[in-house]
Amino acid sequence: MQISEDGCLEYDVLVVGGGPAGLSAALQLGRSLRSVLVCDNGEPRNGPAAESHGYLTRDGISPDELRRLGREEVVRYGGEFRNSKVTDVSRGDERFTSTLDSGETITSRKIVLATGVRDALPATEGFRELWGSGVHHCPYCHGYEVRDEPLGVVVTSQHMVEYAKLIYNLSDDLVVFTDGQDVFDEESRSLFVERGIEVEDEPITALNGSDGNLESISLADGRNVVRHALFYPPPMEQHSDLPERLGLEVNQAGLVEATQSEHGIGFTSVDGLFVAGDASSGASPSISSAVADGSTVGATVNMELSIEDFEGGEQ
Ligand SMILES: Cc1cc2nc3c(=O)[nH]c(=O)nc-3n(C[C@H](O)[C@H](O)[C@H](O)COP(=O)(O)OP(=O)(O)OC[C@H]3O[C@@H](n4cnc5c(N)ncnc54)[C@H](O)[C@@H]3O)c2cc1C
Repeated sequence: MQISEDGCLEYDVLVVGGGPAGLSAALQLGRSLRSVLVCDNGEPRNGPAAESHGYLTRDGISPDELRRLGREEVVRYGGEFRNSKVTDVSRGDERFTSTLDSGETITSRKIVLATGVRDALPATEGFRELWGSGVHHCPYCHGYEVRDEPLGVVVTSQHMVEYAKLIYNLSDDLVVFTDGQDVFDEESRSLFVERGIEVEDEPITALNGSDGNLESISLADGRNVVRHALFYPPPMEQHSDLPERLGLEVNQAGLVEATQSEHGIGFTSVDGLFVAGDASSGASPSISSAVADGSTVGATVNMELSIEDFEGGEQ
């Protein structure tokens, strides 16, 4: 890090977001002798979950601990951190200027947006309180832990039928909740019924439970259906407004469009601005994918910097 004449902190790369994607990008950049600052405002997507699963060698680790270990590794190579939100980014001729909510101003040659996504949760009573503990979106992340339990799955559109088949694999005791939506024709409904899966068409009015455990699901007709876990994949939206403010294209799934070149991946429509992890169309929404994407985007950014330095005769 250097300090410019007007007091700005200067880095080669600013990484916005210190989750698995941002930390992996920062690790690659630090190991490539790049000065890197990671800013994170402490709202990880998997924050509501006590454990994260499916990431080799770290299965069952808490989201906080995974980040702590990641930070430790980045610091080893000179990476710096701010527990701050990046509130604005603008692009000058040669450098980006970014403002932090701490009041600091950062300039950098490149930026990696690893700002993640938010899950747009329904307003149903009890849903938010049980999200990540009794209500799950990902059978790969939390399905094994509730295998063979009385499970529910919300199917409110045709494309969620495939998702319901994943949950069927976890337990013989499965109820499909259509939440009042007209999803099934007779043929597709019978596919479930023939396999002993109950289909509940009443709208869901509340999820009931305590200490993070789902106990039952209340329906509009007054019945309570006992269930110990509910699966529902909510729509995703960008966590940060920076992609929109920077004019980046966000696709129908809510992801920033990332492109690739012969030098790597994670390019956006703004020169020098990269995207990694859940926020990007180039990654699947999981820790292992965010780590892989962040790592490759970090290497891509270093490649770009190396080419610029080599061609400019700088070292
Ligand atoms: C409840 C739940 C449980 C999950 N469990 C698992 C699991 O067990 N296994 C698995 O593989 N995946 C799991 N996932 C998915 C996993 O959380 C994500 O795929 C992963 O966290 C993506 O990493 P990321 O670095 O892209 O984003 P995130 O981990 O979301 O990190 C983005 C970071 O950017 C920060 N940020 C955003 N905007 C700004 C800004 N303007 N300035 C500064 N910082 C900013 C946020 O605060 C956040 O810390 C789970 C998801 C949910 C919702």
